[in-house]
Amino acid sequence: AGRVTFDHVSFAYDPARPILHDLSFEIPPGKTVAVVGPSGAGKSTLARLMYRFYDVTGGALRIDGQDIRQVTQASLRQSIGIVPQDTVLFNDTVAYNIAYGRAGASQDEVEAAAKAARIHDFITATPKGYETMVGERGLKLSGGEKQRVAIARTLLKNPPIMIFDEATSALDSANERAIQAELQGVARNKTALVIAHRLSTVVDAHQILVMELGRIIERGTHAELLALN
Ligand code: ADP
Ligand code: ADP
Repeated sequence: AGRVTFDHVSFAYDPARPILHDLSFEIPPGKTVAVVGPSGAGKSTLARLMYRFYDVTGGALRIDGQDIRQVTQASLRQSIGIVPQDTVLFNDTVAYNIAYGRAGASQDEVEAAAKAARIHDFITATPKGYETMVGERGLKLSGGEKQRVAIARTLLKNPPIMIFDEATSALDSANERAIQAELQGVARNKTALVIAHRLSTVVDAHQILVMELGRIIERGTHAELLALN
């Protein structure tokens, strides 16, 4: 389960200014589709439609054949997790912020699930280490640490469909490579939309979409796109 279909999707925040134009593509169950393109191309907007922060204004977006507008909010939130580009954390502990993906989880449950989901690796890799980090408050964290918490929250929720919106952009390049490699492992059996700022971070994607001004201008595997340019 977890096939995502964009069927001639268009979108405008403001009717006078269309942002996305007639986008059609499919993410087969368990595959990763990556989106690259310049800033302002509409990549984050695409991610927001898939998480249903906004509804499409033309065409249809389907999950396993069902129009996303017909799926209940609760069931949608169970099937899809997003690591947004600008993560806003609660001014509470890291443990609480991670558990937010699983409302009502106790501290013990968070600990157990964190271990199972290899969340320890994400947090332990920070200079502060796990013990200090889990007790730290959200607002005190650096951009890179916040991104790690957002990733951990989505991993803990463990939905079949995941969206990563430049999930590693706030990390330094050594950390970015390490986390990207981890994420590729995590996303292996997931249906995933990965927004990237560099083609080199999405080499293994089933398909890469190149976007410009709200349109898909090229698509193919990493090797196919390299051969084109
Ligand atoms: P990208 O992720 O590729 O940088 P975005 O999806 O963030 O692109 O933005 C695409 C276009 O939509 C831009 O012109 C941007 O100004 C506009 N936009 C983004 N978010 C909003 C919003 N909440 N309201 C109105 N316009 C927006
Ligand atoms: P949940 O699905 O866990 O109930 P939300 O749907 O409220 O959580 O938000 C999931 C993540 O997306 C949060 O990190 C939140 O900050 C972020 N977010 C919420 N609204 C928007 C939006 N309109 N655009 C981009 N990101 C958002």
